[in-house]
Amino acid sequence: MPASPSDPTLVPAERSWWFDDALAAEGNPAPLPALSGGTQVDVAIVGGGYTGLWTALALKERAPSLTIALIEASLCGSGASGKNGGKVHGYWASLAGMEANLGADAALAVARAGTRAQDAIRRFATSPGRDVWWREAGNLCVSASPAQDARIATMVATARRLGVPDSAQALSADEVALRCKSPAFRAGIFLPEGANVHPARLARALRSAALAAGVTIYEKTPMLGLDAGTPNRLRTPAGQIIARDVVLATNIALARLPEIRPHVSVFSSYALMTAPAPEQVAAACWTGDEGIADLRMFLHYFRKTVDGRVLMGSGSGPIAYGGDAAAAALMRDNASAERALRGLRRLLPGFADIGITRAWGGGIDVSSDRLPFFRTLPGRRIHYGCGYSGHGVNPTYMGGQCLASLVLGVKDDWSSLPLCTRGLPALPPEPLRTLGGRLIRWGIIGCEEAEERGERGSAPMRAAAAIPRLFGLRIGTR
Ligand SMILES: Cc1cc2nc3c(=O)[nH]c(=O)nc-3n(C[C@H](O)[C@H](O)[C@H](O)COP(=O)(O)OP(=O)(O)OC[C@H]3O[C@@H](n4cnc5c(N)ncnc54)[C@H](O)[C@@H]3O)c2cc1C
Repeated sequence: MPASPSDPTLVPAERSWWFDDALAAEGNPAPLPALSGGTQVDVAIVGGGYTGLWTALALKERAPSLTIALIEASLCGSGASGKNGGKVHGYWASLAGMEANLGADAALAVARAGTRAQDAIRRFATSPGRDVWWREAGNLCVSASPAQDARIATMVATARRLGVPDSAQALSADEVALRCKSPAFRAGIFLPEGANVHPARLARALRSAALAAGVTIYEKTPMLGLDAGTPNRLRTPAGQIIARDVVLATNIALARLPEIRPHVSVFSSYALMTAPAPEQVAAACWTGDEGIADLRMFLHYFRKTVDGRVLMGSGSGPIAYGGDAAAAALMRDNASAERALRGLRRLLPGFADIGITRAWGGGIDVSSDRLPFFRTLPGRRIHYGCGYSGHGVNPTYMGGQCLASLVLGVKDDWSSLPLCTRGLPALPPEPLRTLGGRLIRWGIIGCEEAEERGERGSAPMRAAAAIPRLFGLRIGTR
């Protein structure tokens, strides 16, 4: 049955389709026991998503004798790591923006580190006994309006200028159609680095690997407070952890920390999963496993699953006032789920009659230059990583390596990356940030939707969309 905007399957669900599927594949295990009483370890990690789990694994690999405890408020993988689109790629698609923000050498260093991450995730995902639906066929960006065509030209020109022309190859409309056919696609760009994964199964496989490596994991164990010191003391509902080093890997919950607040806003992203549709996939000649996205700023991202479904996501969810990770709009905004449905119908019209199995939303931690950052609190042995900006499946591996280097106090290829060393622009304070963010979002979404209809956004929309550029900001620009 085709979904209509009033369809109950479009009301964003608490849990993603991925997470339920991953738990079912494991036989719906009971949570790991919560922390009860006191324990003392070398490193305590807070947060059982990709960042926390990759950090635990990196530390165990580099320093096997370290004692490590990881606490997770809910179940490992239940956060963004079990909700995302499962599109895995590093930073070659972001070269132009990174060059503008960081300079050419630093941009290339980050993109090359992303390739190292991609290689490591592939090794992990494809090792025997893991069934995380790893499919690797590159990353395809498609233009769906004349305004988006310009971005293709910029991406190709940047790759050529920086001496990496093979990282981004322009495709004509006919060449795009050979990979995936749609009347909405005008042209495209193919980036060879890219894979699709089952995001929740990946998170759960990381959890299993961490347990096997000797990490102690406590689920249903939220951190209630952290007393910084030597050592640090971390409080939970029924216990405490004394730890020399603490790693905070709590994603959007970090946005309220005074050190992070100036640099991170919390937006949201919404995804829906269709029922299996193998005939429609075949009719679109979508034979490969490329992850696909359009070239809007508030982009649509989409991919197939191994059982013939299509996930369509829309990175256009609302902004949370004051970085409030618990804000209901982050997970419950029907309008954003409906925008994802409209994206499915416009970009893949052959799927218009396919039913929707589930829709869901999740918060994303958008940094002031759209790159993540990994740091140590000055004078403390407390480390944190944040700011993935809706692109974290590959970068969280880098985060794990960077955070492990910070914990171990080593200056190496990871801790020398701009991800650990660069300064970040400050965002305006509240209430200006949220009010301005909402206005700009309204303007950009309005302009992008108008452009897709072959029209121009209204004058107020264009004015709102131009605000970031007027203030010299490089985020929120198209
Ligand atoms: C809908 C959606 C689609 C996305 N699509 C993509 C995509 O296709 N490709 C891509 O690269 N990126 C994508 N992303 C981004 C990506 O999912 C994230 O950047 C990444 O998963 C972040 O991992 P994390 O471990 O830092 O955070 P999380 O996975 O959110 O993990 C943080 C964990 O910390 C726990 N926690 C929070 N507070 C506490 C506390 N006080 N005590 C204990 N535990 C706590 C949470 O329960 C959570 O499990 C998407 C995100 C969303 C929401």
